[in-house]
Amino acid sequence: MVFVPEQSGKGYNSFHFFLFTQKFQDIQIELNSAFYLALMKKVLVTGGAGYIGSHTVIELCNDDFIPVIVDNFSNTDDRILEGLHQLLGYSPELYRVDCTDYNALKAVFSSERPDAVIHFAAFKAVGESTALPLKYYSNNIESLLVVLRLMEEFNVNDLVFSSSCTVYGQPEKLPVDETCPPQPATSPYGYSKQVCERIITDACAARPSLKCALLRYFNPIGAHPSALIGELPFGIPNNLVPYITQTAIGIRSQLTIHGSDYQTPDGTCIRDYIHVCDLASAHVKALRWLENQSAVCEAFNLGQGLGNSVKEVVDTFVRVNQSALPVVMGPRRPGDVEQVWADVSKANEQLQWKTERSLEQALKDAWKWEKHLQQAGVKS
Ligand code: UDP
Repeated sequence: MVFVPEQSGKGYNSFHFFLFTQKFQDIQIELNSAFYLALMKKVLVTGGAGYIGSHTVIELCNDDFIPVIVDNFSNTDDRILEGLHQLLGYSPELYRVDCTDYNALKAVFSSERPDAVIHFAAFKAVGESTALPLKYYSNNIESLLVVLRLMEEFNVNDLVFSSSCTVYGQPEKLPVDETCPPQPATSPYGYSKQVCERIITDACAARPSLKCALLRYFNPIGAHPSALIGELPFGIPNNLVPYITQTAIGIRSQLTIHGSDYQTPDGTCIRDYIHVCDLASAHVKALRWLENQSAVCEAFNLGQGLGNSVKEVVDTFVRVNQSALPVVMGPRRPGDVEQVWADVSKANEQLQWKTERSLEQALKDAWKWEKHLQQAGVKS
């Protein structure tokens, strides 16, 4: 629409001229923002309302991507959407869709025309996967196949895939780097990640325009420092840190340390704990890295690059939060690897990414989130 200044009976005066310039500036701002919006890349985030997905949505917005969330809400709920709205000042586009539903996801691709995909949507409980292997294989593998088929149909080339350090099993060399060959998986969950990595590698080889970063997470913990988003409790936690915070707040009576006779300095297992916000920012770095690649499928370790024992995590939690924590020693948990931590130099160098938050910070943020859940009346 062209703006024509209105003419008064006495012709244009300086006030009209002022209005005209103002209006012209407004139009320019609108045009600039429309132009800028058109340049911003749209990223489909499957599982974007989940724990790592929601933190990644924040990081995407911080780096001027437009996130589009696809989630079936099997392991999250609308409270995370409220948190995202408060943090972002708007609600990202959202589709309540299961990624194994080809037609439903096709409709999302068709209306959104994404530039890239970050695929988080998967089941992730190791213990449950042993009891319900078919549920894990069908969901985790089928959803990836649907995403890959649609990426090909809609000519979407950049994929960031949520993988896991479980692919390494108990590595012979520590810290473990990406050249370490995968070990036989100890759970259907772990095997589903290995299979998905293989499927993506084969798909990239067959279609060279497809580019992928396979992100192998070590142990994501903590929550957004605002305590507006974090991991939602669904039943008894499997993972160490949610179990610690639920015990400290009184939902669980005591924490059991699974095994104190390992060949480690204090006898408890060693893991590489990484703040979820640091992990989230790596996804954005991976997308930026993919923009400048061709015909690539690369794995990256994402951890702190440090090992901490279960006992160290417990002691640090008590120290930084001044919180009482009833702890007992118990037997080993079947399937646990003794110790694993990451060599993160590849991600540091190629993705130009590094962690910025300590174990202390992550445990403070985890505790803040648990207290937020309590205030909000959330019971596990
Ligand atoms: N762990 C524990 N008590 C719990 C939960 C976990 O001692 O209630 C231990 C677990 O045996 C492992 C470490 O904490 O040695 C990290 O476990 P988590 O399940 O968080 O991560 P993963 O084993 O999958 O790396």
